[in-house]
Amino acid sequence: MSNHASERRALVTGGSRGIGAAVCAELARMGHPVIVNFQRNAEAAEEVVAQIRAAGGEAEAAGFDVADTTATKAALDKLLEDSRPISIIVNNAGIVRDAPLPAMSSEQWNEVIKTSLGGFFNVTQPLLMQMVAKRWGRIINMSSVSALKGNRGQTNYAAAKAGILGATRSLAIEMAKRKITVNAVAPGLIETDMTSDVPDFVQKMIPMQRMGKSEEVAAVVGFLASDAASYVTGQVIGVDGGFL
Ligand code: NAP
Repeated sequence: MSNHASERRALVTGGSRGIGAAVCAELARMGHPVIVNFQRNAEAAEEVVAQIRAAGGEAEAAGFDVADTTATKAALDKLLEDSRPISIIVNNAGIVRDAPLPAMSSEQWNEVIKTSLGGFFNVTQPLLMQMVAKRWGRIINMSSVSALKGNRGQTNYAAAKAGILGATRSLAIEMAKRKITVNAVAPGLIETDMTSDVPDFVQKMIPMQRMGKSEEVAAVVGFLASDAASYVTGQVIGVDGGFL
């Protein structure tokens, strides 16, 4: 555990369920105070907070919609009243609104782009200068194998997640001199609420013949957030059982 870990707060968007909840647990285990963001399900976020506290860690829940620029800025301003910087951002909140493009509504397109790609901007931009002032930071963006491979019914989702990769590489270049690293993780099929209806035959298409676990993604995020990953930036790390 880093000596500095307790001074480096971590914000995990969509930390209340699935991959985000596992990331919260992992960062707390590493000694970071964790801010567990959620949109609607406060109970689930409080459960994550309770589990972290029960294990001896520090955590708080913070509800805001990452797609809402004004609400997110207001929530972040409040969170920044704590003297310890938010040194780790995990842009994990994401939604699916699948439909083949000829049948896709503009709402389905916009909601997905606004949450994944808009959320990246709304959360990251207001936190950059306090990170720059501390000359240490970790930004980890949750992309998807869909961004790299494409997927039927997911032109909106794949576009948002591919946009995240371009943003990751560009921000990595902008921040490199400040000891702030920016990386993306591209999970394959991971067992969460988001993938509860994946048919069995799809699992057979994965070389490892199984879906991944949230903890397997969280372990990679934990590494990228650590001092050990100090020379890793602008990368996209797949966690997909060989799917790509
Ligand atoms: P999940 O189980 O559906 O959980 C989504 C989380 O995001 C929840 O905590 C939810 O909070 C939060 N959220 C959704 N919209 C939000 C918003 N506008 N503002 C704030 N929080 C919001 O999802 P998951 O499967 O863990 O996926 C996590 C991330 O990994 C997503 O970006 C997803 O695209 C990506 N990913 C997942 C897989 C997979 O197979 N599961 C594969 C590749 C990539 P509430 O419950 O409060 O709404």
